[in-house]
Amino acid sequence: MKKIRFLILRRFIQLGILVTFFVCNYYAINFFNGNLNSSKVFWIIPMSDPLSIAQIFISGAISGIAIGSEAVIGLFVVLIIYGVFFGRGYCAFVCPMNMITDFANFLRRIFEFNTNKKLNISRKSKYGVLILSLVLSFILAVPAFDLISPISMLHRGIVFGMGFGIFGVLSVFLFDLFFVKNGFCGYICPLGATYSLIGKYSLLRVKHNKDKCTKCNKCIIICPEPQVLDLIGKRSGSINKIDCMKCARCIEVCDDNALKYGIFDFKNMRSKK
Ligand code: SF4
Ligand code: SF4
Repeated sequence: MKKIRFLILRRFIQLGILVTFFVCNYYAINFFNGNLNSSKVFWIIPMSDPLSIAQIFISGAISGIAIGSEAVIGLFVVLIIYGVFFGRGYCAFVCPMNMITDFANFLRRIFEFNTNKKLNISRKSKYGVLILSLVLSFILAVPAFDLISPISMLHRGIVFGMGFGIFGVLSVFLFDLFFVKNGFCGYICPLGATYSLIGKYSLLRVKHNKDKCTKCNKCIIICPEPQVLDLIGKRSGSINKIDCMKCARCIEVCDDNALKYGIFDFKNMRSKK
């Protein structure tokens, strides 16, 4: 159980959020209102997806649609939660798509699909997709990524009923399963990129102890963003690269207890990107 304690916690939170949204929507209870783009939780606390707000703000320059004050407060709430504390932890603990991509990864391991099709693109490409989403939002005068976001499709599908959005979700699953390991989250998703940028100085970190490390590389094999683990076996310190999802899979698979959760060390900010 110790090996999957954080995995269980993540699934508990991810499913708990979905079930709460579903029940509140079905029984018209105001405890959790809205969706992942814009919601009001615990009756009064607004929460807004920062990428959605950015797209609405930019598209509003053309369409004239303004952002409401509640959405702005919701944005600040989210910036505090993830900017100060959890960084890209949104991906590992909240985003429902994480369950789909983790499942694809799980199947890849079980059936030993090592067929990473050569993409020849950098993991930084998701930041390019983020910029493209904002540019298209301006040109088209609509929140461009929100129109095709498989994350919204999945969340809305589960809470309000699944329609054609199932094809968007299925596409991500098949892409990750047969083509590229962690392809969508690692290379494409602009929302993950947004939370990576927001969480650059967030407090929650994974820490590595070189003296305990036996260089088995299990952490690198399981990690959805393995490029962030470049310090493994070389030096002790925090995983400061912004793509780390704080999913703790590396902590769980490490038999040497060389990895654990910790707090951002502001004095030693090497490898912070
Ligand atoms: S990268 Fe995108 S789809 Fe993947 S878990 Fe993060 S927000 Fe969700
Ligand atoms: S370094 Fe660890 S916590 Fe960060 S993404 Fe990789 S497995 Fe998850």
